[in-house]
Amino acid sequence: MAADTGFKLTYATMFNPPEEFHTHFEEALARVKANLGKEHGMIIGGRERYSAEKFEDRNPANTEMVLGIFQKGSVQDAHDAIAAAKKAFRDWSRTPWQERVALIRKAADLIDQRIYEMGAVVSLEVGKNRTEALGDVAETADLFRYACQSMEDHHGFIVEMGRDPLPGFLATNTSVLRPYGVWLVISPFNFPCALTGGPAAAALVTGNTLVMKPASDTPWTARLIAECLRDAGLPDGVFNYVTGGGSTLGQALIEHPDVAGVTFTGSYDVGMKIYRDFARSAWVRPTILELGGKNPAIVSRHANLDDAAIGITRSAFGLQGQKCSACSRVYIEAPVYDELVEKLVTLTQKMKIGDPTDRSVYLGPVINQSSYRDYQNFAEELHQAGTILTGGKVLTEGEFARGYFVAPTLVADLPLNHRLWKHEMFVPITTLARVQSLDEAMQLANDVNYGLTAGFYGTPEEAQWFFENIEAGVTYANRPQGATTGAWPGFQPFGGWKGSGATGKNAGGVYYLPLYMREQIHTLIQRL
Ligand code: NAP
Ligand code: MG
Repeated sequence: MAADTGFKLTYATMFNPPEEFHTHFEEALARVKANLGKEHGMIIGGRERYSAEKFEDRNPANTEMVLGIFQKGSVQDAHDAIAAAKKAFRDWSRTPWQERVALIRKAADLIDQRIYEMGAVVSLEVGKNRTEALGDVAETADLFRYACQSMEDHHGFIVEMGRDPLPGFLATNTSVLRPYGVWLVISPFNFPCALTGGPAAAALVTGNTLVMKPASDTPWTARLIAECLRDAGLPDGVFNYVTGGGSTLGQALIEHPDVAGVTFTGSYDVGMKIYRDFARSAWVRPTILELGGKNPAIVSRHANLDDAAIGITRSAFGLQGQKCSACSRVYIEAPVYDELVEKLVTLTQKMKIGDPTDRSVYLGPVINQSSYRDYQNFAEELHQAGTILTGGKVLTEGEFARGYFVAPTLVADLPLNHRLWKHEMFVPITTLARVQSLDEAMQLANDVNYGLTAGFYGTPEEAQWFFENIEAGVTYANRPQGATTGAWPGFQPFGGWKGSGATGKNAGGVYYLPLYMREQIHTLIQRL
């Protein structure tokens, strides 16, 4: 993006973009706002598909604003999408990988061309501030390109193996990675672009055909990705886009025997259910699960406290605490506890809350009524059990009245055995603890079912100790840009350990694409 200025948007660089970035965003936002309330179909086998029942996509910052009308896909729609993908598999899987790479690169270019419109939709649909929203879209284009690059770097994953020493014969052995078939991508609301598009590109470039189902809170963003794939010229049926309820349409997709593999990104509970349901089949099918987090930051007595304070508040409250990588727990060594907590409270109180499309706003609303209620219940529980240092309340005055706005919340004095130290709240609430040593902090940090991201502030030697001992897939030390958030493809491949992820290999990383393929050995013998 913005190649003319030399600026590259990532989650680490996004805090101070050039001025033209704002102008483009505002122009695109005006165009998008002039086109609200339209009906959008599903795309099955290259055709628009409308169903009897519809649902509304509303803006969480202003629930009176209907963004679009979407299809409540049925079980039949799920079956039809799978059938269309199955039919397209033969040709697509036999298309030379270089041609698939070229098409996915073309789709990435279309994402770049449409980035401001897509960013405006993400901002309206998710409630993301404008830089976060544009980041989600830019990340998607980079994930597309990373998948293409990975295919090229590995020469299509075709490897000559050794030749058996057979007198009188010439043996050639070749290892090839081949696609599985119909691949299902089910994505969450919080990064609707990158977490639909990233797995979709990986599945497609490796030769699988695709059915994608976005979260019901964010169907529009995923539709725009589908349009980039369509406009890039992918053949009919190679990608299919369906919308509708997780427990109805989503469940029907999971239960279908013609689905060869799945990438699910979302909550632990739904992910584990999918894992179990998906296992009820004639053989084991690949299941890529990217699940929740309960991401800790540990702060040593030797830390730069200004870096720690800014990094922690950014990661705690960016996207209203609704990142899987959000920093939701902080363990601080006693000698610096009071000083750091004071800085954290000051920074938190300065964060501007409001309409997320506004350039000065850092925090938008939470995603829906259910999250809004969760926040209130957690705040009440934490008020009883600990000390709310700042926040703890929903915001209802003036412009806040029409959306799901809540105050970013810091909590101290919560007993270390309290359940909310281990539960992913997924709202802007972070709990702070005073610890006597780094060893105590590490023991607490690892004592959860999750292991997604983690952050540390201290000396370089302590940082090495942190990397060795922390149980998490993405770890950062001394990062003011974000204690636990802000991974970018090619720089920080993203994935979780333990209850945070199934494969132990990170998305946007060197080991990712092979997850979408199965190995076949070709042995050919010729008589000499
Ligand atoms: P969610 O409630 O688990 O939903 C995720 C997706 O699953 C949605 O598309 C949902 O559809 C669908 N779904 C629900 N029940 C289903 C079923 N029985 N069968 C098939 N699909 C079903 O998650 P969310 O609230 O959207 O997202 C937040 C969660 O995602 C958090 O836990 C967060 O940590 C996690 N997350 C993880 C990562 C990562 O990379 N590890 C990244 C981002 C988010 P409906 O919307 O229609 O219900
Ligand atoms: Mg949900």
